[in-house]
Amino acid sequence: MASEQSDRTQVATDAESAFMTLSNNLRLEILLALWDAPGFSLSFSELRKKVGERDSGSFTYHLSELQDQFVAKTDDGYELQYPGHRVLDAIQSGVFHDQVTVGPVELDEDCRECGEQLTFEYDTDYIARIRCPDCGNRALEWPFDPGGIADRDNDAIVAAFDRRTELIWSCALDGICPFCAGPVDRELTSRVHEQGACIGVIEQLERYDEYFARDHPAVVAVDCERCSFYSFIPVGVVLLTRPAVTGQLHEADIDVQETPLWDLGFVVDSDAVTVQQRDPMCVEVSIPDATESVAFTVKESLTVTTKD
Ligand SMILES: [Zn+2]
Ligand SMILES: [Zn+2]
Repeated sequence: MASEQSDRTQVATDAESAFMTLSNNLRLEILLALWDAPGFSLSFSELRKKVGERDSGSFTYHLSELQDQFVAKTDDGYELQYPGHRVLDAIQSGVFHDQVTVGPVELDEDCRECGEQLTFEYDTDYIARIRCPDCGNRALEWPFDPGGIADRDNDAIVAAFDRRTELIWSCALDGICPFCAGPVDRELTSRVHEQGACIGVIEQLERYDEYFARDHPAVVAVDCERCSFYSFIPVGVVLLTRPAVTGQLHEADIDVQETPLWDLGFVVDSDAVTVQQRDPMCVEVSIPDATESVAFTVKESLTVTTKD
């Protein structure tokens, strides 16, 4: 524990020095100017002109503070480095300075509970919500960045949310953190009912009550060993990450490429998920909209087999 604490202290100290370096308007303007430039590179005088700094001493000082980590000196001038790109990417995601709302936007897909039209909504808590305005069914909810809203019409926003959520889920289910690239622990986990009381591990987490798929009998818990990414993913999403399975689904008339996540019954429908065995965990996922009866077995190791 002591070494974990000192590791954390060291990380905080290193990060503090990087954040301190960036906590200056002129320095951020220098990064933005290089980002705008062809080849992410400008000569000293071009760069100074771009940021419009009259005081040469001040400009030189702030540029030198960025050097070696965010900006490199080259034969032609100054060039943005990978950490500089990542700082700008984080800024452009909009999560630090943008608060936007969208919707409700009516979608083409219907609520699986009551048949009414589903809607997409995006709020200032950075969560995109696909829900039914009629019965309140929460089909799918996941964080989305304001960068996903800018420069897109409503149809494109909804499509981007669907695609990005699937990419994040697939990446995490493959054990790679979509945010920091660190290793992700994955655990097929279920609610345990004993004498009417739920005593599963996930029941102890307050956040789980907020989770849109909290009524599913099993979910995959994902937890990054490195950053704060921690969440639950519907078990049916595991099927989407297995080409052999998506091939079989295609034969049963389920087009996983064309159908948004919230219209895939095996992803969002709690009735499609059945816990077969608890130790080790084994879950059956049926395919509600298939033209023929198909079901898959997902094991603790997240291997998928066709159910006979
Ligand atoms: Zn409904
Ligand atoms: Zn991570």
